Amino acid sequence: MTANLLEYDLEGLAAFCASLGEKRFRATQLFRWIHQKGARDFGQMTDLAKSLRDKLEGSARIEGLPVITQHESADGTIKWLFDVGNGDAVESVFIPEDDRGTLCISSQAGCAVGCRFCSTGHQGFSRNLTAGEILAQLWFAEHFLRAHLKTGGQRVISNVVMMGMGEPLQNYAALVPALRVMLDDHGYGLSRRRVTVSTSGVVPMIDRLAGDCPVALAVSLHAPSDALRDKLVPLNKKYPLAELLDACQRYLRHAPRDFITFEYCMLDGVNDQPEHAHELARLVQGHGGHGISCKFNLIPFNPFPASGLVRSPQQRVQAFAKILNDAGIVTTVRKTRGDDIDAACGQLAGDVQDRTRVDRRIAQQRTVMLKPVPMEAQTKEARGT
Ligand code: SF4
Repeated sequence: MTANLLEYDLEGLAAFCASLGEKRFRATQLFRWIHQKGARDFGQMTDLAKSLRDKLEGSARIEGLPVITQHESADGTIKWLFDVGNGDAVESVFIPEDDRGTLCISSQAGCAVGCRFCSTGHQGFSRNLTAGEILAQLWFAEHFLRAHLKTGGQRVISNVVMMGMGEPLQNYAALVPALRVMLDDHGYGLSRRRVTVSTSGVVPMIDRLAGDCPVALAVSLHAPSDALRDKLVPLNKKYPLAELLDACQRYLRHAPRDFITFEYCMLDGVNDQPEHAHELARLVQGHGGHGISCKFNLIPFNPFPASGLVRSPQQRVQAFAKILNDAGIVTTVRKTRGDDIDAACGQLAGDVQDRTRVDRRIAQQRTVMLKPVPMEAQTKEARGT
């Protein structure tokens, strides 16, 4: 079996090249061809010696993930469903905005944490993605979008958020090399603050990430007390709020000019009352005596039948945000994007949440994909023009 070069960060690729008797600068050239130019075969790499290309042909490959479906929303959001084998599929979403292009990517097929409001959590856990499978989502999306949007080779994705399917800090061994490729100037060259890892609160791994690769950190909080959080985020029983917030403070010592983004999914009648907002403000501002440098992102819940939960009314979300803002905590309400293609937050398992029928559904979707609709036509259809 040949080695898939998408699995390697630059150090790993240098070691692979060394095993072929090649110098490190060859690894850098190869890395740039793969990640910066989106090369898929060694024949394209015209500045590599023919002898090296021949060696690579026999020992390596550049293999992305098969795309099962691609949907483009009326607002420009694009969602891909990728096949990761054995009936598993993961999703990635591109969200274009005026000043940035954000790609939300998955780290696991399914998720073991089982948050109550999350459709991925209801799907159950299948397996960790490899570093190459995490990166394949970015590699595909970046180079597809450059061609699709005709950017003349200009970069499209400026921000990556690890907020798709899975708990990234429960797949640490694959996460860190993937992050290194995103940050590497010879790779995607993203700044540390433009790559966000979102966690439900795996405390020991927050500490490790601080030392290994302190990118921006988002924490799924969703409740101001252990009693309520235990019910919404089961991991809270293992790592309760006080320990989690201590870890956030330690993290910021490695990134002193940063802040933690607390994600808070607004659930009607569950965690959206004014007293919850006041309790949250006291929690984060009083923690450790000097509080935590943070902002809040309130997420309108995207209902799915198995959850038994309902989205908070918009007025209540605004009132909640006002209490936090008035307390001096910067608070935003996440715009819902891609609602029409199930790409909004918490809907990412929309196509695959019932694992028992995933094989059949993938087979059906493949049948549809056999007759691909030209992208231009899909776009018009999605926009209703
Ligand atoms: S919210 Fe995140 S950690 Fe919780 S079940 Fe969903 S994917 Fe897993």
